[in-house]
Amino acid sequence: SVRFHDVGKSFGTSSRGGTRTQVLRDVSFTVQPGEIVAVVGPSGCGKSTLLRATAGLDTATEGSVTIDGSPVRDIDPRCAVGFQEPRLLPWRSITDNVALGLPRKTPASRGRKRVAELIELVGLTPHANHRPGEVSGGMAQRAALARALARNPQVLLLDEPFGALDALTRLKMQDLLLDLHRQDPTTVLLVTHDVDEALYLSDHVIVLGRPAPGEPAGIVENIEVDLPRPRSREDSDLA
Ligand code: ATP
Ligand code: MG
Repeated sequence: SVRFHDVGKSFGTSSRGGTRTQVLRDVSFTVQPGEIVAVVGPSGCGKSTLLRATAGLDTATEGSVTIDGSPVRDIDPRCAVGFQEPRLLPWRSITDNVALGLPRKTPASRGRKRVAELIELVGLTPHANHRPGEVSGGMAQRAALARALARNPQVLLLDEPFGALDALTRLKMQDLLLDLHRQDPTTVLLVTHDVDEALYLSDHVIVLGRPAPGEPAGIVENIEVDLPRPRSREDSDLA
């Protein structure tokens, strides 16, 4: 499980007259193995900050973030991160980009097999040799998701992964994520502005907010999403 225990984060320095701003305070919650937990809240409330502290891209200044009881490390190898922009290398093929996600020391032949599998899983086989600029935004984002999965992460961290996509592609990506999760239930922490998306995808929704302007944000609500799993639009009457 991923445990957030009284996590706080301040930026800046209070020494030599610098200013110090506290962004997050007293954030405590647990993500159980295989759960999808969404973090929502207004812009600037510290969602990405929380995600970065989980990935070890930054550190919490108070409290602790642990994965299976041990603190997250610098760029924690147990985590993989997906961002709003796919961040693919433009001059390399989709295949090469996905391969960049493989853990170090993956034997070449096993790596090639795994990359081909993942590309198939996200439906990009016909585009495997294309460069990111030659495919649509949704396809590039699927490649980025495959790259994150190539790491075989214990925890998948997604920061607005579908935020830049058109509405229809977004719905398809949500179902793709649920489908992948059904096949291989990794622990997922997902940051999103979209409350519908949070409710559709997650087991819990953590709502961050500031108690008053200028004060650090904390958890204002922790909503258990009481929908049966597995679920997808295909199973519903809407399909
Ligand atoms: P959005 O929904 O717009 O992505 P967010 O909830 O992800 O917002 P964060 O990016 O986590 O918000 O930022 C939270 C606050 O921390 C903001 O006020 C931001 O200005 C501040 N902040 C983030 N990174 C830094 C930094 N490196 N130095 C100083 N302040 C920072
Ligand atoms: Mg953000």
